[in-house]
This record gives sequence, C-alpha cells and structure tokens, in this order.
Amino acid sequence: MPKKSFESQLSCFGSTETQNAKPKTGIAVANGRRQIVILGGGSGGIVAATKLGRDLGADHDVILIDRRADHVFMPAFLFMMVGQRRPEDITRKLKKLESRNVKIVQAEILGIDPVRRQVTLSSGKIPYDYLIVSLGMQTVPELIPGFTEGAHHAWEMEAALRLRRVLEGFNGGRILVGVPLGPYRCPPAPYEAQWMLDSYFKERGIRDRVTIEFFTRDPEPSGEAHDPVVWMDAQSKKRNIKQHYEFVVKSVDPEKKTVTGLYGYELSYDLLFMIPPHRPAQALIDSGLAETETGIRVDYDTLSTKWENVYAIGDCADMPASKAGVVAHQEADVVAHNLAVGMTGRGESIPLRLHTI
Ligand SMILES: Cc1cc2nc3c(=O)[nH]c(=O)nc-3n(C[C@H](O)[C@H](O)[C@H](O)COP(=O)(O)OP(=O)(O)OC[C@H]3O[C@@H](n4cnc5c(N)ncnc54)[C@H](O)[C@@H]3O)c2cc1C
Repeated sequence: MPKKSFESQLSCFGSTETQNAKPKTGIAVANGRRQIVILGGGSGGIVAATKLGRDLGADHDVILIDRRADHVFMPAFLFMMVGQRRPEDITRKLKKLESRNVKIVQAEILGIDPVRRQVTLSSGKIPYDYLIVSLGMQTVPELIPGFTEGAHHAWEMEAALRLRRVLEGFNGGRILVGVPLGPYRCPPAPYEAQWMLDSYFKERGIRDRVTIEFFTRDPEPSGEAHDPVVWMDAQSKKRNIKQHYEFVVKSVDPEKKTVTGLYGYELSYDLLFMIPPHRPAQALIDSGLAETETGIRVDYDTLSTKWENVYAIGDCADMPASKAGVVAHQEADVVAHNLAVGMTGRGESIPLRLHTI
C-alpha cells in the first residue's frame, strides 16, 4: 500500500493555519479545535501524549513526532549490556498510541520556529497551537579526545549491544567505569553499572580475575549513611570497587589505555566503560531553543518557556532535577494536565511538585 504523504496525514487533522485563521494566544477558546504537537516519543513524550489523548478525546488533535517508530526504554540498556534483555524486550511501537487519540508521525525534526508556531520536519512543516518539547539529550563522545576509539558505554542502544559483546569476550583485567563533566542521563546509573558488572563477573565465576574501579568528577560523599550518595559509595566499596573522586577527565589514550584527568592524574584500564558527554538534542541547539548545555530554560512550576504556548519537559528541560525518566514522567503529567484543564475548562491547574529529584 502506498505510504500516505505527509500533507495528507496533516489534512486528516487539519492545520491551525487552515482551521484557525490566526492561532490564538493563551489557552484555547471554547469550541476551537486545537493542535497539540509533542516532539519526542521518549519517556516524557509518551506520557504527555497518552494523558492528552485521554483527557481531550477526539475534540482536539494530539500529534506525537519522533524519528523512531518505537519507544525505547533506556533504563534497560544496562540489562542489555549484561545479556539480560534484547532490543525487542525494551521497545514498543509508538503507533500503539493511535488507539488513544494520538496521531503518530515518524520524521526527523529539523527545526522549531516558536514565532511562526511551526516545526520543520524531514517530511514538511507542521503548525501547532501548543508545543510540548521532549527531545531529550544526545550523547557526544567526540567532546573527549580519544573517547570514540578508546571507550565503551551503554548510553545508546547500539553502544550497549557492542559493550555486551566486549564483556562476553573479557576474561580478566582492569575495568574502569567513569563519568564525564556536565549533565548526563540518570546520575545514579553509573553506580548501578558497577554493581551489575560485579554480579555479571561473579556469575561467570571470574570476579577474582577482574578489578573494577570507578571515577567521578564529584567529591567523596560524606554524611548520614542513608544519604543516597553515601549509601551508593558504601555499596560499591562493599563490592570491592575502588572509587576515585574528583577525577575530571580530559582525554583518553586508546594506545596506552589510560585516561588523563586534570592536573596530570592518570588511570589505566584494560576496558574503559565511560558515560559519554551529553548535550541537548541537536534540533534544539540548531533552533536556538536550548540556551544552556542542560537544555531549554523553563519555569520550574509550569515548564513553560519564554515562547508562548511552548513547554519543555524531561531531559531537555533545564531544571534543577536529575535527567531521569521518573522526572520526565512527572513533568509530562503536570504539563498535560494543565493544558487539558485550560482547554476543557474542567479541573484546576497544578504546579509541578517533584517527589523525586
Ligand atoms: C543507561 C541508562 C539508565 C537509566 N536508568 C534510569 C532509571 O533507572 N530511572 C530513570 O528514571 N531514568 C533512567 N534513565 C534516564 C531516562 O531514560 C531518561 O531520563 C528519559 O528517557 C528522558 O525522557 P525524555 O522524554 O526527556 O527523552 P528521551 O527518552 O531521550 O526521548 C527523546 C526522544 O526524542 C527523539 N528525538 C530526538 N531528536 C529528534 C529529532 N531531531 N527528530 C526526531 N526525533 C528526535 C528521540 O528519538 C527520542 O525518542 C536511564 C538512562 C540510561 C541511558
């Protein structure tokens, strides 16, 4: 069957240009059909789309755009790395959301114009009345010289699968796990990664042949034993994993198999597992929406941006919170709830109150 053109996909839903001669400002007026465009089908995007599709029903158009056909559950990358999950276990077709009043468009997002209120896709332009941006972060290994040639990681699907093959062939030596400067997805995950490696080699019966060490730019934690960072540090030490604190990576030397930090500190490795530097999704940098290396500036209560009717949630929002799915989920819930309240006139708006950071 021939694929529907993008224009005909759009015409199914109408465009704000044709239906509303001029997009209105603020929350929609009664009886006006509105187009809510959600960018990104990751943790934040699917939660916002599901809630809006449910709360607005067929009265408005909720459109979710992603370059992928599938939602990918990234927290499971660590399980893939040790052979406990396969790609098909951790992906779900975004099209499934179509049964919930959400239209899925698979396309590359090339640009966002918050003044004209339109998004440029690889397949055309799409206008919006309300835009929810949940494009996440990208990994940028090239920011550390030698990283691409010398390091492995599990922060993207393909990289996690590669690391799995490398681990299967690793029969002894020194594994160095480490984090770079700057924001990255899921701050506790590098600790989880150390412990999973510990269990993995125990199960293979060769833990005594493997040394695991960890480095981080953070200072050595101190305080109460139940403080999460103090607890994680203790858990690693209990597993005989040495922790190097305040180690700020400058470069990797794949020939010598060393990582060089500030002030000439050096750590050697047989296998380097390092979280790559992260930056906001490229489309956000190119469009000028991401103004900091942590993302789009937002109001901490409402996730609104300085552009009218544009909200940013999840990893691409510059929030004083972890880049974590659990945070993206809560932010998506609040933004979708408040939009639905404004459009239907039912219920009360709520501010974001994260119950985890
Ligand atoms: C190894 C690992 C372990 C983790 N563990 C946990 C955990 O235990 N708990 C937790 O809460 N979080 C965890 N996280 C973090 C969590 O996965 C992210 O914080 C979460 O996915 C962020 O959701 P998001 O919607 O902001 O962005 P994402 O989930 O990254 O979604 C962004 C979407 O935008 C799409 N996109 C980007 N650019 C474009 C473009 N130009 N065109 C089209 N589409 C585009 C992408 O394809 C993607 O689907 C982990 C992450 C990793 C990598």
